[in-house]
Amino acid sequence: AIHAYVPGKASLDARPVVAKLSSNENPFGPSPKAVAAMTAVLGASHLYPDPASTALREALAARHGIEAAQIICGTGSDELIHLVAGAFAGPGDEVLYVRYGFAVYDIAARRVGAVPVVAPDVDYTCDVDAVLAAVTERTKVVFLANPNNPTGTLISAAEVRRLHAGLPADCVFALDAAYAEFAEGEYEDGLALVKAFPNVVALRTFSKIYGLAAQRVGWAYAAPALIDAMHRIRAPFNVPATGQAGAIAALADVDWVEKTRAHTIAWREWLAGEVEALGNAGLRAIPSAANFVLVEFAEDGPLTAAAANAALLEDGIIARYLAVQAMPRCIRISVGTEGETRAAAESLRRFVGGVAG
Ligand code: PLP
Repeated sequence: AIHAYVPGKASLDARPVVAKLSSNENPFGPSPKAVAAMTAVLGASHLYPDPASTALREALAARHGIEAAQIICGTGSDELIHLVAGAFAGPGDEVLYVRYGFAVYDIAARRVGAVPVVAPDVDYTCDVDAVLAAVTERTKVVFLANPNNPTGTLISAAEVRRLHAGLPADCVFALDAAYAEFAEGEYEDGLALVKAFPNVVALRTFSKIYGLAAQRVGWAYAAPALIDAMHRIRAPFNVPATGQAGAIAALADVDWVEKTRAHTIAWREWLAGEVEALGNAGLRAIPSAANFVLVEFAEDGPLTAAAANAALLEDGIIARYLAVQAMPRCIRISVGTEGETRAAAESLRRFVGGVAG
C-alpha cells in the first residue's frame, strides 16, 4: 500500500504519525530566522520573484568564495538535475550514473530522450573503475551523488577526482552534493573542481540541512558556458520569493546548521549501532555519511524489509521502503529528533523480537 503523507495532517490512515523519517528532512525544521524572512516577503506575493535570484546568488558566492555569475538557482536541485540532462544530453546520448543512485537521474535522462546507463556498484558504493569502464563516446553526462541517496555511501575526494580525470573532456560531470554538510573528513564538494575544470557542475540544495524542502531551492555552480546553457532552458521565475528570502536567512544562521549537523551525525551513528545490534536477525546498517541510515535485510534471513516497513508503519513511523528502487531488501530511515530516532529503533527492535521470538 502507498501511504501518502500530508504535511500538517497528524494521522496516517487511522494511526497517529509518530515520526516521518522518509525524506531526509531537517528534524528541527527551518531556522526561525528563515521563517521570519519568508514571512516578511509574503505580503509582496502579488509580485513575481527576482528571476535571477540575485541576492541569493551573491550570498552563496560570499559564503563559498565563488563567482555569483557562475551560480544558477533552481526549483530544488531536482530542477537543476533536469537542466543538466536537458542542456547537455539528448536523443541517442547516454547519461551514466551508479546503480542505487538518486532516482531523478534516470527520470531526467529519459525525459530528454537520452539513454540511462547504470554502472555496477560495490556494496552500495560507487566503483570508480566500473563507472569509467561504462563510459562510451556517447556518454554526455555522468551524475554522482556523494554522499549518495538512498545508500548514504561516500567516496573519497581522491576517488572523485580520479573519476573526473578519467572522463572525456566533452562529458559533463555533475557532482550532486545534496548531503555535503553531513560528510566528514577529506571531502570534495565539487566547488574546487569547478574552479579547475570547464566540464564540472556542482549541485547543492537547501532542502536537507537548511530545512527548506517545501520552498524548493537548489543551486548549481559551473563554468560560465555550462551555466549559460542551463539558463537557456530553465523556467524564468523558478525560485519563489519566499524560497530566495528563506535561503539567504538560513545560510546566515550558522548555529542552526551546526546544531543540525552535530545532532544528525551523533544520532545517525546511534541508529546505525542499534541496527547493527540486530545483526543476528540479518539486519545490517550500511555506513552512512548523510542524514539517514540504509538498513539491509539478509537475503536468507528470517525477516524481510517489506514486513519491517509495515511494522514501522503500524507504529506510526514512516520510513522509506526501497522496493521501487530495485532494493527490495532495504529500508531507509532518516535521522529524526532524538525522540523520533529512538522510536524508530524501538519499533524495529520490537519487530525483530516479535518475529524472531
Ligand atoms: N540529490 C540528491 C542526492 C537527493 O537526495 C535529493 C533529495 O532527496 C535531491 C538531489 C533533490 O533535492 P531538492 O530537489 O529538494 O533540492
